[in-house]
Amino acid sequence: RVEVRNLWKEYGDQVVLERITMDVAPHSFVSLVGPSGCGKSTFLRMLLSQEKPTRGSILVDGQPLADEPQPDRGVVFQKYSVFPHLTAVENVALGQEFARAPFTGRLFGRARRAALHEAGALLEGVGLGDARGKYPAQLSGGMQQRLAIAQALARKPRILLLDEPFGALDPGIRADIHDLMLSVWWDTRMTVFMVSHDLREAFYLGTRVVAFDRPTEKDASRFGARITFDIALDPAAPIKERL
Ligand code: ATP
Ligand code: MG
Repeated sequence: RVEVRNLWKEYGDQVVLERITMDVAPHSFVSLVGPSGCGKSTFLRMLLSQEKPTRGSILVDGQPLADEPQPDRGVVFQKYSVFPHLTAVENVALGQEFARAPFTGRLFGRARRAALHEAGALLEGVGLGDARGKYPAQLSGGMQQRLAIAQALARKPRILLLDEPFGALDPGIRADIHDLMLSVWWDTRMTVFMVSHDLREAFYLGTRVVAFDRPTEKDASRFGARITFDIALDPAAPIKERL
């Protein structure tokens, strides 16, 4: 359960977010929408412990967020989520390494073979079984995002953060990757926060859609974005329609 309580974020004298409160049940899929610059990415960075709120708090299962980034968070961006100099399977194995022993260096010997084996299975799971040895630049945009999802899953995240992950993809490819995302979310029981500019996508994938507004230009330094609507959807409905 993720509880966001009266969260404020200011940069200098600019108020970016104000009074953000939401209580997110386990295994939710929260779509975050709102105009450019309203603070969606900033909000995700706070969930990742990469930024501190100016006021208010975030509790995960009743515990305040730790100061340092947590291994049980996965993250996928629109671009550049994976390392260009590593192959697909190495990228995923690296994700596991962060999960097991955060930021302590590389695996060797048997541990390395086991990690690569597990990474191969995750690649199969996202439809990239044939791409193990390929570098990200050799993969299409959709395949790169599948790879980024596999890398994030390797951390066995309890919370997955997606910042416009499908924004750059063609509609047909998007539809396939939406189905992948739904089945992954359903199987892992993780809680997902996804920023999207596409309302249809937000409502299709989300069990909940939260919109931030943006203060007018004139008021930007005094007021931050607030929640304008927060709609709960039937969690089973999108799955029933598609699977
Ligand atoms: P977009 O849809 O374009 O990605 P967003 O909703 O993700 O926008 P943010 O990137 O969270 O918006 O930015 C919100 C506001 O906070 C912007 O006005 C931005 O300039 C400001 N901001 C973000 N990060 C910083 C920072 N590190 N220092 C100062 N200001 C920042
Ligand atoms: Mg953003």
